[in-house]
Amino acid sequence: MDCPKCLNPMEAVEFGEIVVDRCTHCKGIWFDMLQAEHLKAMKNSESIDTGDPEMGKDFNEIDDVNCPKCSAPLIRMVDAGQTHIWYEGCGVCHGLFFDAGEFTDYKEETLMDFIRDMLGKERK
Ligand SMILES: [Zn+2]
Ligand SMILES: [Zn+2]
Repeated sequence: MDCPKCLNPMEAVEFGEIVVDRCTHCKGIWFDMLQAEHLKAMKNSESIDTGDPEMGKDFNEIDDVNCPKCSAPLIRMVDAGQTHIWYEGCGVCHGLFFDAGEFTDYKEETLMDFIRDMLGKERK
């Protein structure tokens, strides 16, 4: 499979039982349907996101890309919880592409939300 953004080959990266594809060049990560959600819930899963967030920001600007799995055009999606995070999703196979650093960012929000919720409950 080739990277939808920079067209370099992607390599399989395993975390737990989940295998995702990470670009050997821009380090963007492709998640098949629901893999991002599953990994988000797993401890230390941000270790798969080894890319430089600065490079990820540059590649984030590229939005005319096709799904590496089924070739359908990817749709730019904004994370509902963190509107500064844009990722690309496939409306056909429901895979998601995160640029380098984005998965770490996406994951951190869960922790922050959790802490915020905890504090909120204590105050009540
Ligand atoms: Zn790439
Ligand atoms: Zn697809």
